[in-house]
Order: sequence, then C-alpha cells, then structure tokens
Amino acid sequence: MTSSAASIRRPLPPRPHALDPDVLLTPAQPRWDSARLAWNLAVDQRPAAIGAPRTAEDVVALIAFARESGLRVAPQATGHNAAPLTGLEGSMLLKTSRMRTVRVDPQARTAWVQAGALWMDVAPLACEHGLAPLSGSAPDVGVVGYTLGGGLSWLARRYGLAANSVRRAEVVTADGRMLEVDSEHEADLFWALRGGGGSYAVVTALEFGLYPVDAVYAGALVWPLDRAAEILGAWIHWLAQVPDEVTSVGRLLRVPPMPELPPAISGRDLVAIEAAFIGDADSGGRLLAPLRALHPEIDTFTVMSTEALGALHMDPPEPVPVYGDGMLLSTLAHTGIDNVLDVAGAHARSSLLCVDLRHLGGAVGREPAGGGAVSSIDAEFAAFAVGMVPDEDVREQVAADVDAVTAALGRWDARRAYMNFAERSRSGDKLFGEEVHARLAQVKRIYDPDDLIQANHPVSPATS
Ligand SMILES: Cc1cc2nc3c(=O)[nH]c(=O)nc-3n(C[C@H](O)[C@H](O)[C@H](O)COP(=O)(O)OP(=O)(O)OC[C@H]3O[C@@H](n4cnc5c(N)ncnc54)[C@H](O)[C@@H]3O)c2cc1C
Repeated sequence: MTSSAASIRRPLPPRPHALDPDVLLTPAQPRWDSARLAWNLAVDQRPAAIGAPRTAEDVVALIAFARESGLRVAPQATGHNAAPLTGLEGSMLLKTSRMRTVRVDPQARTAWVQAGALWMDVAPLACEHGLAPLSGSAPDVGVVGYTLGGGLSWLARRYGLAANSVRRAEVVTADGRMLEVDSEHEADLFWALRGGGGSYAVVTALEFGLYPVDAVYAGALVWPLDRAAEILGAWIHWLAQVPDEVTSVGRLLRVPPMPELPPAISGRDLVAIEAAFIGDADSGGRLLAPLRALHPEIDTFTVMSTEALGALHMDPPEPVPVYGDGMLLSTLAHTGIDNVLDVAGAHARSSLLCVDLRHLGGAVGREPAGGGAVSSIDAEFAAFAVGMVPDEDVREQVAADVDAVTAALGRWDARRAYMNFAERSRSGDKLFGEEVHARLAQVKRIYDPDDLIQANHPVSPATS
C-alpha cells in the first residue's frame, strides 16, 4: 500500500463487535478533537480514525480493521516527535496512552512496560529498589518511542544508549501476529527495533535492563547569557577531563516571564551547565570546581534520587506548541560557539527558548557486542534548538532561528542525525548510514511488505 493510495478517503466500514467506541474512535465522536492531539500542540493531526487499545489483543483487532478499511497504522504514545509524522489522512493513529502498566523485577534488574508507559511511570518504581532506567530528560516522554529511537539519558556516557538495554519486545506485526522478539527469536526484527525507529511492527511491550544507581550528584550552574562565550568555552575545556560518570548539557536559555518560576530565572536570558554525576558529593564537588570558579549566579548541585533527575532539565510538564530540530556535531571548537552566539547569544534577536548542546562520547560512542541498528553515536555533541510557536507568524520566525543555529554549526555537522532529536524529516541514509538503512529496509520488507505501519521517521520496504 503506498501512502498516496491510502490517502484517498473512503467511508470506514462498520465498527466490528470486538472494537467498542472507546477503542476505535471516528471523527463523529465527541472525544475526537482531544484524542487527536499530540504532545506538540503545534502539530495538527487529522487521521481517518484513532485506535485507543487497552491490550495487545485490541491492537490485533485494530490492525485487522485498518487493513479492511485500507488505512495505514501510525503508532504513537505521546506525540513528542509528531512533527515529522505527516500524511495521516489515510491512517489510523494508534494511540497507546491507555497501555501504561509497568512492572519492575528488582532481582533481575529489569522493567517490563506496556507500549504507552512514560518515563515518569518507570523511574519512581525502579528508584524504590535503588535502580535506575536510562530515562531521558523529560518524565512525560514515552518509553517505547524514545527507546526505538536510541535514547540519550542523564546516565548515557556511563551506560550507553537506552536501546542497548532492551532485552525483549512484544509486538503485533502488520499481518496481525503477536510475537515475542529477542536476540534468539525474530533476531532481525529485534535488531531493527533497537535504534531503527517504529516502522516494522507495533510494539505492545518492552523489557529492558535497569542499573544500580540510587542517587546522583546533579544540578545546574547558571550565569547571565552575556557570559556565554566564556562559560561554554570553559565547559568544553572541562569536558576533556570528566569521566564517563558525568553527562552534561550546555544551554542558552531565554526564559519567558512566568509567575510560577523563581524571579532569579523568570524572564531572564541565561547560560547554564546542567550535569549528572554518578558518584558522591565530595568527588562531584571536586569535579565541578573549575566551573564553580566562574562564580555562577545559581548553583543547584546536590545529591538527588535518579527519579528527581526528571526535573533537572526543566522540560515543560504539559503539552506545548513547539518547533525545534537537532543535529549531531562531530566536535565543537570555540569558533562554533562564537557562531552560535552570533545567532542565538545575548546580542542576537533570537526567538528560541533554548539551544542545547549535549555532551556525548563515553559509552554513547562505543559499539556494544550484539547491539541493534543504532547502538552508538559517532559524534561528540548533540545540538537541539527549539522555540514556542503559539501561532503561525511566530512559527516562521522560530523556524528561521532554528535554521540559523543549524547553519552556524554546519561546519561541525556529523555524518549522521539522531532520530530522537530530528523533528524534521531526514533521509534513512542520514539517520542510519547507507548499510544499516539497507538492512532495515530488508527487515521492513519481511515484516511489513505492504508498508502498513507508518512511522515518524519511516523506513520503506526494500524493493529487491
Ligand atoms: C521535551 C522533550 C524532551 C526530550 N528529551 C529527550 C532525551 O533526554 N533524550 C532523548 O533521547 N530524547 C529526548 N526527546 C526526544 C524523544 O525521545 C522523542 O521525541 C521520542 O520519539 C518520543 O517518544 P514518544 O513515544 O513520547 O513520542 P511519539 O511521538 O509518540 O512517538 C515517536 C515515534 O515512535 C514510534 N513509536 C512510538 N510508540 C510505538 C509503538 N508502540 N510501536 C511502534 N512504534 C512506536 C512511532 O514511529 C512514533 O511516530 C525529548 C523530546 C522532547 C519533546
């Protein structure tokens, strides 16, 4: 089925008995408009139908209905990366948000989560047992979407991409089979799911490893934005000395005035270094000394639980309208920082809420044995620029400002892109490299030759 064929609208067949109106939503239902929202409120999703499964059996029934109706199936947990998911007119949006059961096995050090689980569902349960998942910066990001795309956590430089910790997946295939997938069963599909995105099957549950980290020394150091050249320059220098136990982010922030924020940051333009250190406060304090010597206005470093790490990056706690995009940087010289500051620093008229530079390397750069499609990242930094887009006019300005950051860093662009921070379409070769992309296309051909499953960063079935 091609997307153009699927996009020809035709009336949906009658609702089968197995699918009650709560599980299969159509545009006539009162809940329709709230059901089609993505976390990114700037994305206007207009599918032909919405599936809201409670169980894997519901997923099987919804896939059967979609096939019969000539619809594609687009799995989505939260819509954090909904921006590149286009052409939904001929699709069923499969919202997994009612499937949020999580089980932690402290002895095996694993978590089993259903398709719609968020990191905020997993981290507290793991934390109770002194364990940590490789969760991302925002607690409301979906575990499955994040993990299928790689997964960069606050513990990334020590433990690598989250995709490498997956032990097993439960999926429903495009032809409606429920499969258990691991390194010994459906090994090609298991390989593709770990970093290759969501093109191959609907994941109904994932099991992954947890790590014995019960607390970290973490926080943020903050200065006025006009010191950004000096602070980011010192940060880059500092990175050369830090062990893999430290994962950090350099940020340019234009914080909107908000009464709920402390006056020290509300409405201010700032430069910040956020970091998490797997270790105690004394060693962490020694590591931080060169940055503290720059006299930050704010210093929030303290020993915290790994659950509390969810608040460190100050990601929006609710759905918001945003426009952003990211890129991987092979390295970052001082001239790169100067270039970024020309377009997003204190003296630039930038509409961006923040520009983040995440330090990679360590275990993120090391290929583990038996890894999946994307098991390491060959780049030193991941950059991401984002702004709020309450309306269309602002959107144009924010998009131009995101482009300006991308252009400013163009000289350091790594060969590849990181799927989770790609909020605009990228070619499969850019995301995976030619060889891995070709292998993913073969896996897609085996498991979904009709291209029923529709991903935000799609891999099409190989033609030969
Ligand atoms: C505020 C914010 C903070 C973030 N922080 C981090 C971070 O720290 N580290 C990081 O690596 N990334 C981070 N991200 C990026 C995030 O990991 C991606 O946006 C990811 O795709 C989100 O997954 P989701 O399921 O929530 O999103 P969705 O938009 O719901 O899903 C994205 C895609 O995943 C696939 N998918 C989802 N569920 C299924 C399923 N059950 N079966 C098959 N395919 C499925 C689909 O192709 C879908 O289009 C952040 C994003 C935001 C907006």
